[in-house]
Amino acid sequence: MPSGSPAGIIVHSTAANNPNLKRYVYAPDLVGVNPNKNWFGGENSNLVTPHGVVGLDINGEVRAAQILPYDICCWGCGSGTKGSYNFSPAYIQFEMCEDGLNDENYFNRAFDAAAQYVVEIMKEFPQIKLENVISHKEANARGYASAHGDPENWLSKFGRDMDWFRDKVKKLLEDTAVKPPETSGNKKFYRVQVGAFNDRKLAENQLEKLKTAGFDGYITE
Ligand SMILES: [Zn+2]
Repeated sequence: MPSGSPAGIIVHSTAANNPNLKRYVYAPDLVGVNPNKNWFGGENSNLVTPHGVVGLDINGEVRAAQILPYDICCWGCGSGTKGSYNFSPAYIQFEMCEDGLNDENYFNRAFDAAAQYVVEIMKEFPQIKLENVISHKEANARGYASAHGDPENWLSKFGRDMDWFRDKVKKLLEDTAVKPPETSGNKKFYRVQVGAFNDRKLAENQLEKLKTAGFDGYITE
């Protein structure tokens, strides 16, 4: 896909009980080592690679690893009756490392991290609409992916669905949006504080330094 053109994001989950990034990602210092060399792109893999993977790093933290540039089409979702979101139009795709699908704590941490990852991608590609943050299953229902049920197979274990996930993304987008400065009338007013002191003498010294440096200031109690 040409740089900057992705139309959406597809969330996958791996359908294998192995929550560790090292299984899928070659980054020994960050995720540990997979002796079988069947990480995505490894010599014993089939070379089919998503753009990213969400799972446990070497310290047991859930992290997202990008393993393919976003301007290269991945082969993640196969194709359906109408075409393939791998390239027409191109969707950014990432895998979530499943565990045994019975650990609610890992479930929540993994989907929180995935939502954070989606927000990062959406900030890089603002043309991506939230309605086009979809599962492999939803991509199949639209006719642009093979007949898989991920990650709803995992979401449903805890009574969740992709609307729940999109809602999580929406809240994060709202939380991280730049808030406009407070205004009174149409006059913008900014207050800069350089220190808080419990000794008035220290405050006066600080103000003196500011004034020497050419700034106006005042002390409030
Ligand atoms: Zn999938």
